[in-house]
Amino acid sequence: MECIFCKMSLGEIPVDKIYENDNFFSIKDMNQKIPGHSLVISKKHFEHSLDLPSSLGIDFFDAVKNTSRGLMEEYSAGGFNVVGNNFGASGQEVMHFHFHILPRKKGDGIKLFD
Ligand code: AMP
Ligand code: ZN
Repeated sequence: MECIFCKMSLGEIPVDKIYENDNFFSIKDMNQKIPGHSLVISKKHFEHSLDLPSSLGIDFFDAVKNTSRGLMEEYSAGGFNVVGNNFGASGQEVMHFHFHILPRKKGDGIKLFD
């Protein structure tokens, strides 16, 4: 299996987990678009949101909330964005389910939508 996130999930690549539950784990993104930029990743291989069973929604939001809460404290952020790229047309490059968490500060100059 040549999927980088599967290798992390299976322990074949060591990762520094911020948070994990039965179905998801979170890590810092290696390419920090903003300080604290992190990823919530499914432990099992699903390509994108449409493949993720809806029954995992509770664990997904548990991981999003706990990861975001920790990042807000660590980076003294006032808020956060949750961004998911789905399919290549949206910019998805790693074809294993993940969402980006972006800690935000007022006036940080980041524009997701303009
Ligand atoms: P995307 O598929 O466009 O939603 O983005 C995939 C994200 O995964 C990018 O922001 C990459 O920087 C990140 N990424 C890819 N490989 C790794 C890795 N080994 N460790 C941490 N982040 C990674
Ligand atoms: Zn995978």
